[in-house]
Amino acid sequence: MAVYEGKWRCERCLSVNRGRDLNCLSCGVKRSENVEFFLDDDAAEVADEQLISQANAGADWICLYCGTNCSASQTQCSGCGSPRTIQNKQLIEETRGVNDWSEAALKARNAQTTQNFSPVQPQKSFLSNRLVKFILAGTGAAGILLVGVFAVLMYLSTLSYPAEIEISGLEWKRSISLEEYKTVTETAWEGEIPQAARVQSKENALHHVDKIPNGTRTVPETYTERVSDGTERYVCGRTSKKNGFFEDKYCTRTKYKSVTKTRNRTETIYKDVPVYKTRYTYLIDKWVSAGDQTTSGNNFDPQWANVKADNIHTRESGRTENYNLLCKEFGGKNKAYKVKLSPQNWANFRQNQHLHGKIDFWGELISIDEIPNAEISAQK
Ligand SMILES: [Zn+2]
Ligand SMILES: [Zn+2]
Repeated sequence: MAVYEGKWRCERCLSVNRGRDLNCLSCGVKRSENVEFFLDDDAAEVADEQLISQANAGADWICLYCGTNCSASQTQCSGCGSPRTIQNKQLIEETRGVNDWSEAALKARNAQTTQNFSPVQPQKSFLSNRLVKFILAGTGAAGILLVGVFAVLMYLSTLSYPAEIEISGLEWKRSISLEEYKTVTETAWEGEIPQAARVQSKENALHHVDKIPNGTRTVPETYTERVSDGTERYVCGRTSKKNGFFEDKYCTRTKYKSVTKTRNRTETIYKDVPVYKTRYTYLIDKWVSAGDQTTSGNNFDPQWANVKADNIHTRESGRTENYNLLCKEFGGKNKAYKVKLSPQNWANFRQNQHLHGKIDFWGELISIDEIPNAEISAQK
């Protein structure tokens, strides 16, 4: 049983004395009956036999007449000589957690008790309340400012000004997709060959691999289990002997250990079974893509490529066309914009024509009256 010597603080001069001292070594005042013994968390064990037996003697008693702290071995008060009787106050041992006996821990515990019974808010809490209020107010103000800036930006983005727009060009691109009728070589699995195919050759080829269950096997596997491994004694608290000394309190608990065990697991075995099918190589006549004939320009005279399609050897398979009107604010910043036009629409406009548009707060073209819902982008 580990024994430690505690300390106590003199009520009058506040100096710290050893647990064994019955009077303050600095001012000589006797240890109060309300003395609070404390123990540093890292206190060294007592090795001295005499001190250990002093610790084990038991809690002190307090003289009824003069209040002197007397050790359990005394039968008479060392202050006034009165005999030890059952009327004298007997201190009682107390057990707490290992680290609950330092002077700091005792102070915290006392503060906790005081707070529980005191209706008065401590000063520190008042200060922190003020701090919280200050932070809340600051956050609120910043929030309001942010919302304000956002509202102003929202308002500005709704502003628009009429502007005269001048057309500076038309960017166009026209494309014709062509196909040609050709004899091509293709391959296909049995049952998937087109009717007009002229088979040239065939071969047995791997189509896919099936995984077929093919029995089971036993696989040993290891696992760990926690099993009890007897009991152990451990320090679960510390007792104030109420005579200036402290002692470790021991408890008992079950010890556990990990044991590695083996068990068998059944696993299905799969077999790879290749499946072969006949693959045919054949010739077939069909229309295949022959590329695009594309023309483009930057004027109001879009053209299609000159294509000769006889529909026997060559044919058209589709046309696409794209038009962008190029324009800028007349008399404004020389910033150019591209406005997407539909194929039905481009012929309604001509070079240097003036249109009516809207400019936003930041000077960007946002709409053109003559082209509702136009897709407008700044030209790079
Ligand atoms: Zn003192
Ligand atoms: Zn006495």
